Amino acid sequence: MTMALIVHKYGGTSMGSTERIRNVAKRVAKWARAGHQMVVVPSAMSGETNRLLGLAKDLAPATQTPASLRELDAIACTGEQVSVGLLALALQSEGMEAVSYSGWQVPVKTNSAYTKARIESIDDARVRADLAAGKVVVITGFQGVDGDNNITTLGRGGSDTSAVAVAAAMKAAECLIYTDVDGVYTTDPRIVPEAKRLSTISFEEMLEMASLGSKVLQIRSVEFAGKYRVPLRVLSSFTNWDIPIEDEAKSGTLITFEEDEKMERALVSGIAFNRDEAKITVVGVPDKPGIAYQILGPVADANIDVDVILQNVSHAGRTDFSFTVNRNDYTRTVELLKTKVVPALGAADVVGDTRICKVSIVGIGMRSHVGVASKMFRCLSEEGINIQMITTSEIKTSVVIDEKYMELAVRALHRAFELDQPAQV
Ligand code: ASP
Ligand code: MG
Repeated sequence: MTMALIVHKYGGTSMGSTERIRNVAKRVAKWARAGHQMVVVPSAMSGETNRLLGLAKDLAPATQTPASLRELDAIACTGEQVSVGLLALALQSEGMEAVSYSGWQVPVKTNSAYTKARIESIDDARVRADLAAGKVVVITGFQGVDGDNNITTLGRGGSDTSAVAVAAAMKAAECLIYTDVDGVYTTDPRIVPEAKRLSTISFEEMLEMASLGSKVLQIRSVEFAGKYRVPLRVLSSFTNWDIPIEDEAKSGTLITFEEDEKMERALVSGIAFNRDEAKITVVGVPDKPGIAYQILGPVADANIDVDVILQNVSHAGRTDFSFTVNRNDYTRTVELLKTKVVPALGAADVVGDTRICKVSIVGIGMRSHVGVASKMFRCLSEEGINIQMITTSEIKTSVVIDEKYMELAVRALHRAFELDQPAQV
């Protein structure tokens, strides 16, 4: 890498103690001394955001209002406030010139959606001036400021998005996300020990992996990287800080926009899974035009996200209509259907199941190869796993199955698609 403007992002674990912060400072100083212009975006120290929100919860009113959410953000943002100050001090102790900024000082402008604000613009003038003067600039993750100078936060895990947004605004050469795993894996190594680290993954695949349950990056940060074409790398912060910079710059997983031949050859790049959904079935619905709208319209109006949808063939003019929602929304959705939708539609009943999971295969190779989904179905049938629902896109196939078979399914698919074999390059 020639001399360039680089953004580093450090997660809560990497910032977890003063000792670790000192290591972060040494690593950043190494990059700066190599001639790079450095902007660093840290998270709060691990556990800190939970601690702060725990304090808030003790005193919060029973129902959340815009006024109470505003105060939650005022409280939660302080974790990152402490982090940037500590890191700037540590950098100064390493002999670097360093300055810290919180979101409002940059400013990082967001909309006013407290606790889940979206970044609208970043003014990079002040940061550029500091970089030109040879300083390392440390900017808070997670927080911003709205048009009326209220502090906002970007949602849990939002520091990833802050870092990518800063990298996009400054047209950084690369955004390096330092974390407690050393990259993006074919699946969660805690479930499949043979899982392999991917040296590259396409942006589209990463987006699917993130939205399907892989927790490595906040999904919004991947969307941002895609929109502004920010080269993004996920790598470990637990290597020795003084490893050669050339090696470090090539480590981890690069999220790329170039889809090369090698990627096309791998039919499936990864297996994702999530246990956060629940299935709801409206039974005995009169089969006539408009039922999907009559069932899902009120659900959408209540701000409930629907994921997989399935409508069965009808018998004697009646059909069953199933869909999945986040488990947190399960009770609310069933209530809503029972009180509003079932009577209006003349349906028979609403039944549900919270013990389901969604398992997905992801790969851009699926675009140009047939038979990938059927291989998935064959593998699951050989394991005796019943598929309850199926959904597909160009580069993924997801199935909903009984939660108790999740690990079995993930392992079997990982093997069937030969993800445990060394990549043939
Ligand atoms: N500190 C925030 C959180 O715990 C943001 C982040 O770490 O990315 O969610
Ligand atoms: Mg995170």
